Order: sequence, then structure tokens, then C-alpha cells
Amino acid sequence: MKIFNSKKDLKDCILEHKRNKKTIGFVPTMGALHRGHLSLIEKAKEKNDIVVISVFVNPTQFDNIEDLNKYPKTLENDIKLLESVATDVLFCPSVEEIYAENIVSKNFNFDGLEHQMEGKFRKGHFDGVGTIVKTLFEIVEPNKAYFGQKDFQQLQVIKKMVKKHHLPVKIKGCPIFREEDGLAMSSRNARLSKEHREIVPFIYKTLKKVNKKFGKENITDINNWVENQFKNQPLLELEYFTIAEEKSLETVKKAASNKKYRAFIAVFAGKIRLIDNIRLKN
Ligand code: AMP
Repeated sequence: MKIFNSKKDLKDCILEHKRNKKTIGFVPTMGALHRGHLSLIEKAKEKNDIVVISVFVNPTQFDNIEDLNKYPKTLENDIKLLESVATDVLFCPSVEEIYAENIVSKNFNFDGLEHQMEGKFRKGHFDGVGTIVKTLFEIVEPNKAYFGQKDFQQLQVIKKMVKKHHLPVKIKGCPIFREEDGLAMSSRNARLSKEHREIVPFIYKTLKKVNKKFGKENITDINNWVENQFKNQPLLELEYFTIAEEKSLETVKKAASNKKYRAFIAVFAGKIRLIDNIRLKN
């Protein structure tokens, strides 16, 4: 695996591959890699000649300085994992290499997607995501880029950005990879205390029960039921639960038969904030 810290060196490498008519698949991450990330790399390997992964903890998408400072950094282990799945290229730049002196986001308009859910609770988050992903696309110039449905709102925001800015890249959404007990894999899981780790599978269990209720009970009753479930769970604090239409991400109170819906949730387990979502059967 080739490892680059410099934009220029990476661009030279990509240019060489493009000259040789190779297609580039790209997986942007913030590192502390787990099997969820590796599943994206495997998807990328199936459909592209060369797979590039980036590891960069992007400061402009964090609204919480403690979350940023404590974000797990495990580059040595990440490199071992990436080599185990035969990744071709790793790009792990410094903050200065990406932002120089000016660590700020650009402003984006994602036609309202950015104001739902995560956008309500993490101010400026999607401007930060748009800024870093667009910058990385300009450096890597991938043919295809792979994003997890774990961050479903982010996936929709990126698709919107690509469409609105006419970026020459195809965005591929990949399924959520889970632990055996149902917990969605996340780099932040490593920061959970033992007692929080034991209780957090409750999040996905609740989402699965929501899926059973969807279509049978009205959505207001489902929302109330979820709130009550978490009131009875002293170790977890529900930040939001909402059922939203997949394309607009707008919260709904009544489902239409010709649209697709997901249930989205954000929960604090102590100081660790976890998100998850589930596709609801029609
Ligand atoms: P992150 O390093 O958390 O920024 O994630 C990098 C990419 O991996 C994003 O596209 C995430 O949606 C995706 N990802 C993270 N966790 C999972 C998971 N459990 N299953 C599938 N994709 C994931």
C-alpha cells in the first residue's frame, strides 16, 4: 500500500493511474477503522481498479471540541487493517495540508437536507462535511466514492452536492455493518464504558420493534412509544427519534404508500453520541 501525506504526491500517483486508464474507487473516513469501513473498501475493490482511502479527522464538521479532541486515532492499526484487505493507496494528510491557516467551512445549500436531524443538533456539521468531501474529491478525482448508510443523512447530502455541483463522481451507498448484538459499528464505540457498551444494543432493538409497528400503528404513537422506552432506560438519553421520508429527509406523521421511509435515532450513552437508522418496510 502506498501512503501519502501530501496532496501533490497523491495527485501525481492518481495521474499515473489515470494515464494507465485505471478506474479509481474512493472511501473517505476519519480513521479508527473497523469492519464497517472495510466493507466499504471491499465494495470499492469489486468495481474499481485502484482503491484509495483517506483517513482525516475533519475539524470543521465537529461542533463539540471534546468530541473532536477525543476522537480515536489509531493510524498504525488502521494501516495494518488496510493492508489486510490489500488497499492500494492511503491518504492521511495533516490539518494544515488540507486547510492551510484557514480552518473554516464553506457554505453549502443542500436544498434543506442539511436542516433535518443531525443538522438541527450539530450546527454547521454538513457545511464541514461538504467542505472536506468536495476538497477530497478534487484531490482524488475518483470515478466512484463509497459512503455508509450508517450516516444516511450524510449520504443524501453528498449525493445532493454531487448533483448540484456537477461533480464527475458516482456515489454508492453501502449497508450498515453491525456487531453481532446489533450495535452499528462506529469508531466512537471504542470510547463506551463497559456498562454503556452492554446496554447500547437496545438502540437497534428499539429500531427493529419500530419497523414491526410501522404500518400497523400511527406514527405519533410510535414516536411516543420510543420516547417512553428511553425514559425507562437511565443509562441512555434519547436526543431525537424521527421517521422521515428517504429523499427529502422530512419528518412525517403519516406515511404514503408510494414513498420510502426510515427511522432515525441519536442517543447519548454517557458523553458518547451514537446514531443509527433502519429502512422501514412498506
Ligand atoms: P467515519 O470514519 O465514521 O467518518 O466513516 C467513514 C465512512 O464509513 C462513512 O461513509 C460512514 O458512513 C461509513 N461507516 C461508518 N460506520 C459504518 C458501518 N457500521 N457500516 C457501514 N458503513 C459505515
